[in-house]
Amino acid sequence: MPDYGLKGHAAVITGSTSGIGQAMAHALAAEGVNVLLNGFGDPARIEADRAALEAETGVRVLYHGADMTKPDQIADMVGSAHREFGRLDILLNNAGIQHVAPIEEFPVEKWDAIIAINLTSAFHATRAAIPLMKAQGRGRIVNLASAHGLVASPFKSAYVAAKHGIVGFTKSAALELARSGVTANAICPGYVKTPLVEAQIADQAKARGIPEDRVVEEVILAAQPNKSFVEYEHLAGLLLYLVSDMGASTTGAALSVDGGWTAA
Ligand code: NAD
Repeated sequence: MPDYGLKGHAAVITGSTSGIGQAMAHALAAEGVNVLLNGFGDPARIEADRAALEAETGVRVLYHGADMTKPDQIADMVGSAHREFGRLDILLNNAGIQHVAPIEEFPVEKWDAIIAINLTSAFHATRAAIPLMKAQGRGRIVNLASAHGLVASPFKSAYVAAKHGIVGFTKSAALELARSGVTANAICPGYVKTPLVEAQIADQAKARGIPEDRVVEEVILAAQPNKSFVEYEHLAGLLLYLVSDMGASTTGAALSVDGGWTAA
């Protein structure tokens, strides 16, 4: 493994009590990055996971329970990471939810929640992080978009809109920050078998009226030419590159990790 030169850096990772965010927190902590975790879940389990990661890696691991639909809580989360760690090097906007339904039946409150959590929260967190990163002359903003930031699927209108939105937001941020030492990029994974995807398998089965095993074969991995779920390590490899000095010239990019999905 290369030395990514990240020892002593500090990261905020939204939605890191589960799935991809949690795995990316482990990958960064293993490289010596102090991390602030965020997300929902059973408080006892979150605290146990936080303490275990700290013990395993020797870095500082904090938790902030900011709700990604609440701008003031998001700003407080970013500010408290900077106060506690004395710096902020990495912001990974990762929190996300999904809902699957035809547009005419799409619950309005689900649309609003998906846009707030999957798109607008990244604006609030980035807005709070930029002055801190600019003052350091270096920073890394990474947005966890999706293959659905580049192409669409039926029944996921809010998610596709939010993910296309975050790819556009990433590009604007990159241009605004181009001379500041701060980069902004989007990672666009195909399917990763996280709790979010497990829930989608059930939802798609309902929306399409077919059994779950057929959903995996014919719907979920139908889009992925390599017919394999993306592994956490594949995302961690790209993230570590982006946040290291090797990633200094990569900005404004929407980078696919999707087994060839968006090549089609
Ligand atoms: P997950 O459901 O396992 O984790 C989502 C995290 O977000 C959890 O920690 C949850 O507590 C947190 N969260 C949800 N609502 C929140 C809120 N209001 N405030 C704070 N935290 C909140 O999901 P995942 O599959 O790990 O997805 C992570 C990101 O990756 C999402 O943005 C998702 O769209 C994206 N993504 C996932 C896949 C996939 O196949 N799993 C593919 C492409 C992109």
